Amino acid sequence: METLLLKGKPVRDQILEKLAEQVRKAPRPPGLAVILVGLDPASAVYVSHKEKGCREVGFHHETHKLPCEATQDEVIRLVDKLNADDTIDGILIQLPLPASLDQDRILLRVDPRKDVDGFHPENLGRLVAGSPRFVSCTPKGIIRLLEHYGIQLPGKKVAIVGRSVIVGRPLALLLSLKGPSGNATVTLCHSGTRDLSAITFSSDIVIAAMGSARALGEMEIAPGAVVVDVGINRIEAPDRKSGTRLVGDVNFPEVVDRVAAITPVPGGVGPMTIAMLLENTWEAMLRNMDEGI
Ligand code: NDP
Repeated sequence: METLLLKGKPVRDQILEKLAEQVRKAPRPPGLAVILVGLDPASAVYVSHKEKGCREVGFHHETHKLPCEATQDEVIRLVDKLNADDTIDGILIQLPLPASLDQDRILLRVDPRKDVDGFHPENLGRLVAGSPRFVSCTPKGIIRLLEHYGIQLPGKKVAIVGRSVIVGRPLALLLSLKGPSGNATVTLCHSGTRDLSAITFSSDIVIAAMGSARALGEMEIAPGAVVVDVGINRIEAPDRKSGTRLVGDVNFPEVVDRVAAITPVPGGVGPMTIAMLLENTWEAMLRNMDEGI
């Protein structure tokens, strides 16, 4: 049977189209503010994709660029200003922040009602309690992608490799929530996991979020499995003009012919992350208008 490619772009396009239509009928456009500190080239590229998404759906968007020498106080002052700004519904701090800044303290300062990334402890806590408000964009996007392609989750054995607060941990919670988009049996793996290959090989769905180029191959992924590759790794590629290429955490060429379905890198999970950010911002605006802030 032919392998199903779980492409994110067509799903992203559908979501953005729907959002653009809703924005046209809304009393005001939703507003997203992004804070970018420093000159990390990968972060700058991610921010430009977010700006492009905002333009496509007609959101008001602002990117606040601060130099890498920016102090903790300067960033906090900017967050406070955006928290108080009625035209801004969502605030996103582009991570990672320079090591000189206290990332946790800055994330904690974002008004939880504007925390469209879902990184604030209040929003993470709500997810643990089973009544999520904002769910982090990548985990939410993965579930939406699987649903779009008709991949059933209830009853499935899912192995997630990577336990970060951005991807693996919230995803494990979401997949184990009661309901048609969850009800999976989840094993959350990390660098301390023993017998990783045995766990992933015996899983129906393998989700790789490690940040380690092509680390999972035919020894880790069983024939017929569904594979979601979150990893984005730049490796050397002398055959290409740029000299580099992006690859995932899964050895795509090694497993593509034996699995039932797999996300490409790039073009799989990445476009879904941006679509979910815009959707969260839209939902934030509806809630903020309701609550009169
Ligand atoms: P982190 O570095 O924060 O976390 C990596 C996790 O993987 C850690 O839990 C680590 O374990 C685990 N890990 C690393 N190596 C191994 C190994 N050999 N065996 C088992 N576990 C391992 O990464 P992020 O979660 O932020 O990102 C992961 C990847 O996803 C990156 O490539 C990133 O670029 C990509 N990404 C893609 C997004 C998208 O939209 N497509 C969005 C966000 C991230 P331990 O905790 O023990 O250290």
